Amino acid sequence: MKILIADDDAVSRRLLRQTLENWGHEVLVARDGREALETFLDHPVRLVITDWMMPHLDGPGLCRAIVEHQKGTSDPTYVILLTSRDSTGDLAHGLGAGANDFIAKPFKTEELRARLRNGERILALQEELIRAREEMRRLAMTDPLTGLFNRRAMLQSLRRDEERMRRERRPLGVVMVDLDYFKEINDRHGHLAGDRVLERVASSLEACIRGGDYVGRWGGEEFLLVLPGADAVQCAEVAERCRRLVESQRIRLDDGMLLRVSASFGAASTEGPDRIPYLDLINQADEALYWAKEAGRNRVKLFVGERADA
Ligand SMILES: [Mg+2]
Repeated sequence: MKILIADDDAVSRRLLRQTLENWGHEVLVARDGREALETFLDHPVRLVITDWMMPHLDGPGLCRAIVEHQKGTSDPTYVILLTSRDSTGDLAHGLGAGANDFIAKPFKTEELRARLRNGERILALQEELIRAREEMRRLAMTDPLTGLFNRRAMLQSLRRDEERMRRERRPLGVVMVDLDYFKEINDRHGHLAGDRVLERVASSLEACIRGGDYVGRWGGEEFLLVLPGADAVQCAEVAERCRRLVESQRIRLDDGMLLRVSASFGAASTEGPDRIPYLDLINQADEALYWAKEAGRNRVKLFVGERADA
């Protein structure tokens, strides 16, 4: 493990360093709190052993600075205060500053070893929790079947993209996609076949979008493409490319049968001084999708005011 030690006393510093190095740790050394903080910021370490009394910045001050720095990061650091003070008031002060543990100075080798092991164990637990939290966060944003963004994730990034496109004075386009006759596929071939179709359509859509575009699963057999910077014509072009690729797929089912599917597309884009909020934009794409269904499916419709086009 990489350990940073901070101590203004040369003898105690050397002893600590030697002990830790003998145990196989990589040791960084600082002669006071300020130097320790600079070293820490340059070379983040998981464990810090710091003296209490030091010039410039004392142990508790260093603890506070480390805690402050760690806000918003997911790298925990474990801090052990090295001190000859042992009154409960001082302990409370050190803990309040963010120290995780204490070692009385001069340290006993066995005690140091035990406290280090304890620190490693707690760091491992913290890291496991952080990993689990990040995985939960990822799962909460992902559609498990297709691996695409789910609706919640789409809404979040749409909000950001809307803001960004408004700032950059560029259009924002969306395309709503709905598989044709999906219920019949499920009824006739079973839900596993339906799942396979959804996966294949998802990867077809992903293959057709441009860099910076993204696609998510909006609902059961509905997908949404988001095309930052795309005007209505570009949206319709991307949608048409997707439509042709979906139509050209031959999806092999477990019984060997080859299935062909198609999808309908509704595209809408907004720009200029009268640009509309993204939720309204999605409604427009939905409306255009409805026109595509009405007109016989397997086609792209562009939202243009009250009138269908494309
Ligand atoms: Mg000191």
